[in-house]
Amino acid sequence: MTFTTRFAPSPTGHLHLGHAFSAWTAFRAACEADGRFLLRLEDIDTVRCKREFDDVIYDDLLWLGLDWELPVRRQSEHFDDYETVLQHLRGLGVVYRCFKTRREILEDIARAPHHAGEGADGLIYRGPAEPLSSDEEAERLSAGEPYAWRLSQARCREVLGERFGAMHFLEDGKGEIAADPDPLGDVILARKDVGTSYHIAVVHDDALQGITHVIRGEDLFAMTPLHVLLQTLLNLPTPVYRHHRLLTDAKGQRFAKRNKAATLKSMREAGASPEDIRARFAGPSVT
Ligand code: GLU
Repeated sequence: MTFTTRFAPSPTGHLHLGHAFSAWTAFRAACEADGRFLLRLEDIDTVRCKREFDDVIYDDLLWLGLDWELPVRRQSEHFDDYETVLQHLRGLGVVYRCFKTRREILEDIARAPHHAGEGADGLIYRGPAEPLSSDEEAERLSAGEPYAWRLSQARCREVLGERFGAMHFLEDGKGEIAADPDPLGDVILARKDVGTSYHIAVVHDDALQGITHVIRGEDLFAMTPLHVLLQTLLNLPTPVYRHHRLLTDAKGQRFAKRNKAATLKSMREAGASPEDIRARFAGPSVT
């Protein structure tokens, strides 16, 4: 299988040095493996993502010395695909509608403090003590109440049986890692008005695009067990993962889009060369 990797930014602003490092790490890995490098725009958040950023992303990456296969996949053009995935999960009976507000969830958590906490994907919610009756659900639906589709870990365990406990992935350079989604609780996979989430879209697209190696920042490491769980439920292959270290500024802070000085656009406008940028990437890509 040809080594295939991707860089998948969300066009919610200009790329900063941290993105450049991620893109460069994936691109170099593809070159070294004589493989394929793809670019994907993860723009399902149609409020925060702006088309005007797409062109700046292309300009920045070309300037840095990257090239990628065309066409670029733009997730906002494929909501139907992600809807089909959600339907599939509904068919498996592993997702449920959750009408609770954040405040109600916090109250539930306060009642069961051993479940408390904020996980890598927001509040850790372990599901209602009692499932909503179909009458109550119908009532709330007809009242037009908003809801989220959550992935029930309890149901996943039932549906997958022994496969649930056997889930794992290969972390490049580190070997096999057990994929335990438990610390994330019942994650939100879609909402009433947005029929997808990063998790559904990324898992779907990595499989569709034949990604053999997912190379991304270590901030997403905690999400990988959830992605492996979705791959297992959907009978999709699990790629090899490589979570690289995150670049930090002189104060040890991660770069953020709001830090205008660290954007590639402003750095190149201030006269930096691609070599200057790449010099900032020195050191191992993984810790
Ligand atoms: N779109 C994600 C981000 O900008 C990257 C997702 C991934 O590489 O899996 O952080």
